[in-house]
Amino acid sequence: SGRWARAMGIVKEFEEKCGTPEGKLKQVADALTVEMHAGLASEGGSKLKMLISYVDSLPTGNEKGVFYALDLGGTNFRVLRVELGGREEGIIHQEFAEASIPPALMCGNSDALFDYIAEKLASFIDEEEQRFHQPAGRQRELGFTFSFPVMQTSINSGTLIRWTKGFSIDDAVGQDIVAELTEALRRKGVEMRVAALVNDTIGTLAGGRYTNNDVAVAVILGTGTNAAYVERAQAIPKWHGPLPQSGEMVINMEWGNFRSSHLPLTEYDHALDVESLNPGEQIFEKLTSGMYLGEILRRVLLKMAVEASFFGDVVPPKLEIPFVLRTPDMSAIHNDSSSDLRVVGSKLKDILEISNTSLKTRRVIVELCNIVATRGARLAAAGVLGVLKKMGRDSLTEGGEKTVIAMDGGLYEHYTEYRECLESTLNELIGEEAAATIVVEHSNDGSGIGAALLAASNSLYL
Ligand code: ADP
Ligand code: MG
Repeated sequence: SGRWARAMGIVKEFEEKCGTPEGKLKQVADALTVEMHAGLASEGGSKLKMLISYVDSLPTGNEKGVFYALDLGGTNFRVLRVELGGREEGIIHQEFAEASIPPALMCGNSDALFDYIAEKLASFIDEEEQRFHQPAGRQRELGFTFSFPVMQTSINSGTLIRWTKGFSIDDAVGQDIVAELTEALRRKGVEMRVAALVNDTIGTLAGGRYTNNDVAVAVILGTGTNAAYVERAQAIPKWHGPLPQSGEMVINMEWGNFRSSHLPLTEYDHALDVESLNPGEQIFEKLTSGMYLGEILRRVLLKMAVEASFFGDVVPPKLEIPFVLRTPDMSAIHNDSSSDLRVVGSKLKDILEISNTSLKTRRVIVELCNIVATRGARLAAAGVLGVLKKMGRDSLTEGGEKTVIAMDGGLYEHYTEYRECLESTLNELIGEEAAATIVVEHSNDGSGIGAALLAASNSLYL
């Protein structure tokens, strides 16, 4: 019928605009490499901030003692305690508590957010066993993983550049985030020193390095996306401080903010961006990360409902609600292998109140998931290639050294089709020979342990 043909026309056009042939991905990778150079050359030289992390040495394995970590960067936050036993014993003990951030606090004021966090930290400590208590005269020390763009001013201070991922707390922007936390800890009577301020990518890199010496890149694919890698200090023209002894500096790329004319953007992406909390920003993130994939899908389905009556004569009202279709639901739809696509059917019914969908309709929806996820995963792979190129690790090196990329984040972890597509695309881009030396590794929650390790290596009591 005419309606079906019109709907298929929308799908076909969307698919074409989302195309990511190998040649395009290589252009994206090259553009990223160019931006990396520009971001390292001067402050504000690129949309890529290429932030200096003040981490110039990664964990060695010799770290010892009880340290804490706090991970704030998305919908949940975690408090962690790690007991490190040095080279012989490794991680003796770890324990964490998790809480969600009430949506009201994500858009409120700074004190309210940090008071809430300090309270959770206080109860975590109140409940801990005697054996974890610090010796007399010694403060507890914490690695603070704060996964928003921060202009770092030392290993344990830095000002918030802007919020991302749905956070919007105006009075915190431009503030020293460690001072905000420290004051809240004082208000709540928590005895604790913030020894390191890091990003989840830096934490993942540090945690990954602790278990595998070849880890040199970390990528997060969760609510948002970002990457960090080990750069030669000499290759950072904007760094005017003393050259670190290691000769290295970890760079927090903030690659979520990458944009390039080579990125395949559709009308849906433009509309999503314009209506977002941060229009014009985080374009790469809006194409690749968990906060947005389901929303892109919703927008395409809405257009099909409005312009081609894809779900019948009335447009399902639920389909008009922004962000109603979450990426975990999209991945469940995509992953449905039943012959009648019953998961697709029940998701449509439960989330969008659309019932009695035909198999044919369900198949189209699965295909849309595939288009959105494939584009995102292939672009993420192109991003990894861009970083490897900058490091000179994209082709077989003389020494044949291994490069391990530590990956983490709920999207990477739970969205099977996305993860598999990312990994196969990376192999495709790098070629068989070099692919043998490049390893992608899931660093399961390495960021928390990494932050605790960095607190240890930046302890006052060394
Ligand atoms: P954050 O990025 O908020 O720190 P996570 O790394 O745990 O936290 O990632 C959570 C994100 O991962 C969610 O916002 C969601 O987008 C994505 N995600 C979680 N579970 C799934 C899933 N089953 N399928 C696809 N994406 C998922
Ligand atoms: Mg996280």
